[in-house]
Formats: sequence, structure tokens, C-alpha cells
Amino acid sequence: MILIDGKKAAAELREELKQEISQIKKKYNKVPGLTVILIGDMAPSQIYVRNKEKSATEVGLKSEVIKYPGNVEEKIVLDKIKELNKDDSVSGILVQLPLPNHIDKQKVIEAIIPSKDVDGFHPMNVGNLSSGYESSIPCTPLGCYLLIKKIEPNLSGKKAVIIGRSNLNGKPMAQLLLKENCTVTITHSKTKDLRAECLEADIIVAAVGIPELVRGDWVKKNTIVIDVGINKTDKGIVGDVNFDEVSKVAKALTPVPGGVGPMTIACLLKNTIDCFKRSQK
Ligand code: NAP
Repeated sequence: MILIDGKKAAAELREELKQEISQIKKKYNKVPGLTVILIGDMAPSQIYVRNKEKSATEVGLKSEVIKYPGNVEEKIVLDKIKELNKDDSVSGILVQLPLPNHIDKQKVIEAIIPSKDVDGFHPMNVGNLSSGYESSIPCTPLGCYLLIKKIEPNLSGKKAVIIGRSNLNGKPMAQLLLKENCTVTITHSKTKDLRAECLEADIIVAAVGIPELVRGDWVKKNTIVIDVGINKTDKGIVGDVNFDEVSKVAKALTPVPGGVGPMTIACLLKNTIDCFKRSQK
């Protein structure tokens, strides 16, 4: 079984991005910039944003975090986004989710100009991805996709089963694999026989949020299994896949932690550089 090392893959991607930024610097005499807006003081969001800022600076991006208290007015945030949309030194804008209840998430997502939407959540980017056009791609599925391609460069004709249909993970993941000519099945909480679906799969991507849902007898030999789940349990953080059981049958499997997670941030940096490059065209 191949243990898919997300930390190593993310470090390699960051190294490539570092080289790319130094070439951009030579060519344009400036570096791409990422601005993150953080609202409130929720501990997980603070940690994510700190990690994003650290990684951005390490690869040589210009990085800025704008912080607002949890009770900030929605209009103040929307006005700031408008200002950042017009700022040439900002290549990518990210508003850390979740947002306080009084702020309309969709309004905030749609306020970000699609060309700076590094999360790929703007309806224009969602539409472009599903139409097969160039777009920002949500960071976690993009990271999963890059890991799968490392194991199996030619995905044409493979049967992929995605567990979960969220806008954040399942749906964009399905689009990426469809573009690679996989036959894609998207499953969800109303799927009748999830085990039977999984047993058909050459590739399984589990993005559910249920600890160790995918069992060893759900997976056939030679399947690539990508575990997106991050679940806090009494035994620590576990994924949506029962690692001990599935590692005995799968061809390749991502661990949790150390699999998909590290790729998510590296892909955010990639998206920022890609936004910059598209803006120069
Ligand atoms: P989400 O929005 O809650 O979506 C979960 C999906 O799973 C839904 O489509 C739901 O179906 C489906 N589901 C629920 N129970 C199911 C069941 N018994 N069988 C089959 N499908 C079922 O979750 P998300 O935001 O996509 O996140 C999923 C997991 O990934 C979470 O553990 C999250 O923490 C983790 N995550 C990790 C990263 C990372 O960087 N590694 C990034 C983001 C999220 P319905 O649509 O029918 O409700």
C-alpha cells in the first residue's frame, strides 16, 4: 500500500511555487499578494489564518491579514472587499469561513471579484469549473486532485466515487475528476447503499465528516482512497476512513493528519499565483 504523504507533496509544491515567485519577481518587479480577512476570534479560524500567513510569507508572497471583531457590520466588510478588488497589489482575497451569523456568507463570497477569488467559491468560478473553463478551484479538492494524479497520472475511464456533495469539497472534486474522463458517482446522506457504490470504485474521495465511515470491506483492491475528513474523537483526530482496515486493501491511502490537510494551504498559495498570472494576461 502506498501511504500518500501530503506533507511531502505540499513541501514539493511550495518549493515549485517559490521558484515561480522568484521568476515573477524578476519579470514584473513585484510579487503576488494574498489578503485574508478574519472576522471574530474563533480559535480554529485564527490557527488556519496564522498558518496561511506563515506559508504565504515562506514562499515569498506578499501576505496581509485584516482582522475585524466578531460584531463588525457587514457593510464594513463588503466595503473593504470592494477596496481590495481595486487594489493592484492584491492578487487574491480570502474571507475566512465560518462567518458570524449576522453576516451573509453568500453576499461576501459574491463581493469578491472572481479574478481574485482564491477560494474558488464565487458562482462565476463554480460555473467556469463545471463548464471546463479556466477558473480558481477550491483548495481542498484541488489538493486531492494533485495527490491522485501523483499516484495515477492517467485517470481516463476510472470509476470515481465521491462521498459528500458539499460546494466546498464533493461537487468541485467531481468536476475535476470528470474533466479527467473519470466516470463519477456523487454519493450523499440519502444514497441507498454506500458500501456497494464504494466497492465499484477505482478512486474514493471521502468528504463527509463522519469518523471512520469507510470500512475495509467497502474497498476493492487497487483503489486509491483520499480521506478529506477531519474529525475530533476521543482517540484524537481521525478521518472519514478507517485507516487500519482500508490500508490493508487499498492501493494508496492518505493519512489523517498529514494527507489532504497540508495540500489545502499549498493550493491556496498556488491559486494566488495563478490569479496573479491571469491578471497579467
Ligand atoms: P459538509 O458540508 O458537512 O458535507 C458533508 C457531506 O457528507 C454532505 O453532502 C452529506 O450529505 C454527506 N453525508 C453525510 N452523512 C453521510 C452518510 N452517512 N453517507 C454519505 N454521505 C453523507 O462537509 P464538508 O465541508 O464537505 O467537509 C467534510 C469533511 O472534510 C469534514 O470532516 C471537514 O472537517 C473536512 N474538511 C477537511 C479539509 C482539509 O483541508 N483536509 C477541508 C475542508 C473540510 P447531504 O448533502 O445529503 O447532507
